[in-house]
Parts: sequence; C-alpha cells; structure tokens
Amino acid sequence: MTDPLASVVVAVRADARVRRLLASLASQTAPRGSYEVIVVENGSADLADTDGADGITRYARLERASSGAARNAGLGLARGQFLLLTDADCVARPGWIEHLTARLAAGDVAAAGGTIVKHQPGTRAQRHAITVVDGQRSLSYLPALHLPYVAGANAGFVTSALREAGGFDEELLSGNDVDACYRLGLRGHRVGLAPDAVIEHEDRATVTAHFRRFYTYAVYQVLLYAKYKHLSGKRYVLDAYPLRRALQAAASAPGCTAHLLRGDPGPASAAALQLIEAAGVLCGDISGAIRFRQPYLLRTCHHRQERSPAVSMPDRPPLVKSRERHLTRRGVLWLGLRCDVRCKFCYDEHVPAVQKGWLSLEDAIRALDKFRSYYGNEFVDFMGGEPTLHPAILDITAHAASIGLRPTVITHGMHLARPEQAAAFAQGGIHDFLVSVHGTGETARAIHGRGRDNAARQEQALDNLRALGVPFRFNVTMIRDNLTELEAIAALAASKGARVVNFLTFNPYFEWERDVEISFQARHSDIAPHLMRAIDICTAAGVEANVRYFPPCQLPGYEQHVYTGYQLPYDPHEWDYNSWYDTGYPGQPGEDWYYRASGRQRERHDYHEVSACGGCALRDVCDGFHAQYAARWGGSEAIPYPGPPVADPRHFIRHQDKYQYPPGEPGSGPGPSASSSTELAAPLGLTASGGAVARRKLPAGQ
Ligand code: SF4
Repeated sequence: MTDPLASVVVAVRADARVRRLLASLASQTAPRGSYEVIVVENGSADLADTDGADGITRYARLERASSGAARNAGLGLARGQFLLLTDADCVARPGWIEHLTARLAAGDVAAAGGTIVKHQPGTRAQRHAITVVDGQRSLSYLPALHLPYVAGANAGFVTSALREAGGFDEELLSGNDVDACYRLGLRGHRVGLAPDAVIEHEDRATVTAHFRRFYTYAVYQVLLYAKYKHLSGKRYVLDAYPLRRALQAAASAPGCTAHLLRGDPGPASAAALQLIEAAGVLCGDISGAIRFRQPYLLRTCHHRQERSPAVSMPDRPPLVKSRERHLTRRGVLWLGLRCDVRCKFCYDEHVPAVQKGWLSLEDAIRALDKFRSYYGNEFVDFMGGEPTLHPAILDITAHAASIGLRPTVITHGMHLARPEQAAAFAQGGIHDFLVSVHGTGETARAIHGRGRDNAARQEQALDNLRALGVPFRFNVTMIRDNLTELEAIAALAASKGARVVNFLTFNPYFEWERDVEISFQARHSDIAPHLMRAIDICTAAGVEANVRYFPPCQLPGYEQHVYTGYQLPYDPHEWDYNSWYDTGYPGQPGEDWYYRASGRQRERHDYHEVSACGGCALRDVCDGFHAQYAARWGGSEAIPYPGPPVADPRHFIRHQDKYQYPPGEPGSGPGPSASSSTELAAPLGLTASGGAVARRKLPAGQ
C-alpha cells in the first residue's frame, strides 16, 4: 500500500461534533487515496466507532486529556508527507486538503495556515465575536517570540520537519500549535499562508464560553513566554491588547447607540463581546502570571501580512570584486543610542541618557519606506547604540528586507554569540553584519569598558554567522590602545571569513572636539606602519581593506584603500549623503551633487587644510586634518602631492579591488519613483529617537 500524501490529525475530547468534521473530510476534492484521517481521542472514550469510517479514518485513544499528547500520537501514526491539523468544532470545505497540501508542496514553507471562517453562527455570541485568530488571513504573532505561527484549527506541516523539530509540547494545554511553529522557525524554516484552504469554525455559543476561551489562551501564553524568554531576551511583557480591545469597544459606542435606536443590536453586541474578550485576556494574563510566576501582564498581539520570500534566508551568489566605482545606494538609520558597553571613544559618550531612547517601530518603517521609495536606496545600515538591543530590531530588519533594502546591523556582535539570536536575524532576512572588533583578547574588553569574555563572545558570534552563511565585515576604530593589534585583527578577519575590514580613524566629533588632549588618540604617523601591515594581511587573504578619515598622504603606496569624505560616496559600504541627511532630493543626484555634499560634510565635521595642503595636488578631494587634531599636533605630518590639481575623488580608489553587489539582489522593492508621494517627500523628523536625531542634523544653512 502506498503512503498517502496527507495525514489529517484530529485531537478530540468528548466532542461529538467530530462526526460532522469527518463527514466533511470524506467529501474532499482531493482523491480519496491521497489522504488519511487520524482521530486521537484523549480524556474521553466515545468515538471508537469512527475507526474505519469512510475507509479513510484511523482511531487511537489516550487516557490523558492533552491536545499536545494527542497530536504527537497522531504524528507518530501519520504516514503522509504532510500532516494537517484541524479540530472537532470545525468543518472542512471541499478543497481544504487540496489547497493546503499544494501550499506545502511548493517547498518554501514547513508550515502553513489556511483561512478560518465562522460556521453557521446561531447565537449572538457566535455572530458577533471574533473567530479563531481573526480568520488567519495574515500570519499571527505573540509576544513570547518574534516568530510567526498558525493556528491548529487550520494548519499544515511538512511531517518530516515537524518530527525533526520534536512535534508538540504536551505541557502546553493551549498553544502547542504556536510552539511547534516556533521550533520550526528556530530551525530556519518559514511559515506561510494558504488562503484558499478554508476551515469553518463553530465559535463558542455563550458569553461565558467566549470569556473562558480567551482566558485559557492568555494563561498558556504566559507559559509560552516563560519557555522562550531565554531566546527573546524579554524580562517582562506589557500587554496592551485588553486595553486596545476595550478602547475599540468604547470608541464604537456612539455608532452602537444609533444602531440600537434603529432596532439593530448587532454593533452593541459586538462591542460587548470585545469587552468580554478583553476581560478574559486580562484575567488570563493575571492568572498565568501568578500560576507560572512570570512578570507578564500585558501583551501586544498583532497580525501581519505574509512576508515575501525575500525575507527568508536569501540565496547569496558569490560576489565579484571590481575596480568600477558607482555612487553608494546605502542609507543609514540610527535606532537609538542605548548600548550595553561603553567604548572609550564612543561619540555618544556625552549624550544624556534621556536622549538615548529607541526609535519607534512605526518611525523606523516610515524612514525605511522613504529610503527605498523616495531616495532609491538599496541597502541600509542600522546604527546605535547597540541595535541588537532594540526591542523591535527583527521586525525592523525584516521590513527593510521585505521592501528590497538589504539590511546591515552595525553591532559589537556579542549578542550574536547565542546561536538562536544569530539564527533569528538570518531567518529575518539580514544581508550582513558590520561587527566592531576593536581588539583581541583583553584589549577588547578594556576598550569596551564593560562585559565579560568580550573577545571570546565576538569570536563565537562570527563562528555562528559563518555557520549560518550570513556575511560579515569588521569595523576597527584605531586608537593608541590597539595599534599593535591591527595585524592580529586583520588575521582574525581572514581566519573567520570576514569580507571587509574598515580601519577607522578616531574622529573627535561632537562633544569630543572640545577636548584637545584626548588620551587614547593616536597620531597618523604612529598608526601608519601598523596599518600598512594590516592592509597587507587583508590583501593577501582576499579581504577588502578600507581606511576611513585618514589623509591619503599618510599612507604612501596604499592610497587606493583610503576614503575621506570625498571618496566615501563611491564606496557601496558607505552612506548616501542624500538620505542620511534627508535632504529631500528625490532619487539619486549626480556626482556634482555628491561632490558639493562632501564639502558640506567636511565643514560639518570640522576638517581643514593645514598649511602644507595649499601646495597639494589632492587638496580638492581631500578633507585635510581635523581641527582638534591640528590644534593638538599641528600639520607637520602632511606630505603634499606634486602635480596638477586632481578633481576626481576616484583618483586613487579606482585602483582598489572592491566587492560589488548585483543590483536588486536579493530584495525587489519598489525602488525610486518619479512620482513619489507627498507623504514620502515630507521631512522625516524622527522626533521619537532623541539623540539619534542629533546625528542627522545638517549644518546651518542646509
Ligand atoms: S591635502 Fe593635505 S592632508 Fe590631504 S593629502 Fe594633501 S597634504 Fe595630505
């Protein structure tokens, strides 16, 4: 006997409505031999006669009342390539099995959920209450973890993937379907939707049952939160859902009154049921928090559209290096300045804590949409602070990926030492990481000022990313403390598989410029010999080496690696001045615009010529020396280039072999639009981001 394509598993306890479900399963459009139905009765003993029904049903029985245990028993018996779940209080529409298995057979998801509609609502509660996860027309999320789930009332799984993930958690009397999806997600699988696979669900008939339903959901969501909080990193949950539902009910009061006066009690009934639902969730939250001893009171439940395939782990074709130079299409978004280390050179050292708040998810999405649709950016860097601490970072990076903005997170990387955290970013469509590696061994911790095993955690993070196939680059801020380690950092980049190392000169920006004697600042001439050897190591290993904010004349023979403000627009790893400062120029301006923007940037960052620069051929495409640096050490290190004036910022860098990214890979968002909307043209004004806003300010007059 050949195995069927699908096994439908129904966990049931003392519910005769299962016979109605079995009848609907017997009249599916799918060929009769292509599926089997496994009824697992748990905690009751009335359904043995269903064994063999319609020639497709197998019966099993457990003494214990547990839907998780019953589903696992069904999983153990299942012979189908796909395992489909539904419940005794449901009715399957004729094409249900056919559509759900077709979605799973597409191969890009390990779990899928179909649409859930009401089944013949009779009572007022059935007519006016929401049905399961509001119809499952979009993927659902709970606060326990960032991953999507589908409801067991209408869900399908790839059987082998579900078995490998360990099946269903038998301790979760509610929510074991959510848990199964989480475990699949953590293993890198995607969850999707099958809108044409429709299940009718008979909602609770009474108000009391309606309350109890939401109460039970909420209680076990607390247990789910407890189970995954070591991965989510959440120390508590604040749940706005009951409040939101109550406010929705209150807001509908005037309309309800008008309908009541016209003799229509429907809207008033719906509002009353919203209040009951809110009360059920609130009581369940409180009960679960006490029962499982968790700091859980309020949750935010929301639904999103199914993400595009671009959000899954992208295929990463091998990149080529080239000497062609194009203007960068990379935006940058500061998510907030909070951080859990205190690098001694941090530019945000002097920003008051009150100004370090996180950018909201809504503001981040608005900015990203503008970067993509208005400015035509194809990449985006997320800056902090430490962006991996942002509570919505995975939602933010996923949104970027979904609109065709390849997301990079600039991070100290230590939280990616947890494999689950690295995997979560990988699953969410991250393009690459830019990891700040300022030292090896104890030097890393000393520069960070906080933390334990910092260098070891960073190395573990790099290993995790490499294992996941997620590319990464290094940022190294060169200060007195790490000059003798630049070569070791370059060797580390080569051994771990970094694509790029950016060697950054410490810039005394912002409040630092008032401090002439900065203890850790190093002279260019002290840095140069170490830096040249580090570049050699990178070059020999095929790692792209870039030097930022260093006068080219300080690295004779290595100038093709050097990027001052004038060269930065030609580095795809650097930021687009247009979207960075939200200048309002739609699309991408020409090279002349970027040349003038480079001059403004030079002025903003307080760079100047020193006296030797006056006779230098490069003076029109070089920043010179920072005012603080020149005040401290003068300009005697400058070595002017002879010859006619150089006007092209690419003069040296066009000789560097540099990674190129294929256009549009991997996302396929809308791109710049000539008819960008008025809304997108409005200034971003990210007022919620406190200190982050300060990093976007333009100099006066721009
Ligand atoms: S302009 Fe000044 S700082 Fe720049 S390369 Fe020439 S001499 Fe050096």
